[in-house]
Amino acid sequence: SYGLVALVGRPNTGKSTLFNRLVGKRVAIVHDEPGVTRDRHYADAIAGNKRYTLVDTGGLDPESDDPMRQGIARQVELAIAEADVVICVLDARVPITPAEHAELGLLRRSQKPVIYVANKSDNPRLETEATDLYRLGMEQLLPVSALHGRGTGDLEDAIEAAL
Ligand code: GDP
Ligand code: MG
Repeated sequence: SYGLVALVGRPNTGKSTLFNRLVGKRVAIVHDEPGVTRDRHYADAIAGNKRYTLVDTGGLDPESDDPMRQGIARQVELAIAEADVVICVLDARVPITPAEHAELGLLRRSQKPVIYVANKSDNPRLETEATDLYRLGMEQLLPVSALHGRGTGDLEDAIEAAL
């Protein structure tokens, strides 16, 4: 079966926009399983010479007391556990949140290959303004605009290399 690549990140960072961008017109089957994967959406995609299955998740907020949000967080933990590669989607335009700090720790502990994305880098100016993200010290942070397609070629290269 194909490698599984999971999109994670807090709500509103652009995971679903990136999901649609990466799956694009090449989507063969969106194989959601109603009742089983309520908060996860699966679709097949291609990066370079590799086929993979992309998983979109609801937002991650491990600190939340809200049962619904905790349910989504569980879904995300499951998505990370089953994934071969994780794409951590951050918003380049806003400072990192405490929930995201927790998320980054969770990802480091997961021992999975993680690709960090500074989404909403719609232009080079926004890209350089994402400095607080660069200070977090991740090996690589890819500036991407899911909305406009900027940087998604580099992201596909990174996915292909990680699979
Ligand atoms: P999710 O909650 O992480 O799935 O985020 P969504 O994909 O639903 O996007 C949240 C909002 O951010 C929407 O209004 C998107 O149009 C917007 N958005 C997503 N990607 C980008 C981007 O690259 N640039 C800009 N400017 N907005 C974006
Ligand atoms: Mg979404």
